[in-house]
Amino acid sequence: MKYILYCRKSTDTEDKQVLSLESQERELLDIGKKYNLNIVKVLKESMSAKAVGRPVFEEMMGMIRNKKADAILCWKLDRLARNFVDGGLVIDSLQRGVIKEIRTYESIHLPSDNVLLLAVQLGMANQYIRDLSENVKRGNREKMSRGEWPNHAPFGYLNDKATKTVIVDPVRSKYVVRSYELYLTGSYGFRDIARILYKEGLRTKSGQKVQINQIQRVLNSPFYTGLMIRDGKYYEGKHEPIISKEWYERAQDMLAGRSRPRSKTLFFPLRGYMKCDTCGCALTASLKKGHHYYYCTNRKEICTEHKSYMREIYLYEIFGNILDKIAFSEKKVELMYEASKERLDMDSGYITKAIDTLRESLESLKSRESRLLDTFLAEQISKELYDERILLLRNEEVSLKKQIKDLEAKTPASMLEPTKKVFLQASRAKKEFLEGDDFKKREILENLCWNLSFKNKTVAQLKLKSPFDIMLKAPKNGSFQDLLPTRESNPNYLLQREMSYR
Ligand SMILES: [Zn+2]
Repeated sequence: MKYILYCRKSTDTEDKQVLSLESQERELLDIGKKYNLNIVKVLKESMSAKAVGRPVFEEMMGMIRNKKADAILCWKLDRLARNFVDGGLVIDSLQRGVIKEIRTYESIHLPSDNVLLLAVQLGMANQYIRDLSENVKRGNREKMSRGEWPNHAPFGYLNDKATKTVIVDPVRSKYVVRSYELYLTGSYGFRDIARILYKEGLRTKSGQKVQINQIQRVLNSPFYTGLMIRDGKYYEGKHEPIISKEWYERAQDMLAGRSRPRSKTLFFPLRGYMKCDTCGCALTASLKKGHHYYYCTNRKEICTEHKSYMREIYLYEIFGNILDKIAFSEKKVELMYEASKERLDMDSGYITKAIDTLRESLESLKSRESRLLDTFLAEQISKELYDERILLLRNEEVSLKKQIKDLEAKTPASMLEPTKKVFLQASRAKKEFLEGDDFKKREILENLCWNLSFKNKTVAQLKLKSPFDIMLKAPKNGSFQDLLPTRESNPNYLLQREMSYR
């Protein structure tokens, strides 16, 4: 087929939202390329289709009559005609097969198509209204591909009504830059930033502190780097960037939690694990004269202790002492393990016996099943009865397997191994903490520590994650088994805790 690519846009108000001729052409050429269409001519017309007598339209119909073309590619049917004479001509040509196909952005019309439907699409108002929203979207996309922002300017920018462009807001753009500056230090959360900006004069229209989600939006939006995003697609904007791409990307990494802060001075290994016992706020950290200090954020602004600073080295010592409390010598752990295992083996002789019995029952199911099959094949029982019995056997099998599995979890080895592992881990924690780098220190705290609160620079409350909390209370000379307090009620006690902790 030989296609004529036909574009039309009039200066009528009803055509205001229609794509420009250039973008109709571009989109249609894309379709042509995609479907490998043979386009023999591109025709463009700036004229309303309400009245008869469009020269370019006449040229197109002439080419079709002279068989120089036999198909039309256009944005929408309403681009072809809006009056009944032209519309009738198009429909008639299509029905007689002189036009073999009219392809639009969203559909293909063939000679067999319903006439009424074509007539509706060629001219009627309601169709136009339906198309309008799609056209608005297309119009916006078109604007964006020219680098123009079709909406209200984001925070930090203004809409210049005279030039219809987006320009930098000299006042608010500074707060955008400041937000990034603060966030990239790694020392401030959204709430802190909102508070600081408020102190530095930023107000909402109603005179309030800006919302946290607004800070988040600012840190998240590529608009500040000069890019625009719509429906997942990026466009290069014409507006002036106020944030460098490097800053933006660093912020994205931090927002996604993907990266550890790059500068070591910004990384405070203990931050996030300590609270102020007086007011309940988290302790934060900052770098002063080459040292890390931790102190109360005083977020609730009621704290009397927020001027009390603790050096990081001082806190390492405290953490070291805590970890010392859960450390057992590895040799002792081995000894305790052996002793406990021996005792449990004696206690658990019945478990081994029970498991053996269950295994035998499981074996016997197989011979019962084959006997049942023999009976059925000898036509001594009906199919229904056979199915019923088989189902019972299957249920029994499932139940036996579960019982065996439950009992196996009660064997000394499966009970003690995970416990032993946790003990060894705890025993090594102090050494690893004191000798490890900042990231190792943090990892250990993450694994072991829930919450630690300070008052007057000393530990007020301490909470470790399970099962280390048990070990903290355990007598150092106690037997390993004392640490399995709920063994009778739930033999998987420590195992489950270990797993949830993992
Ligand atoms: Zn406090």
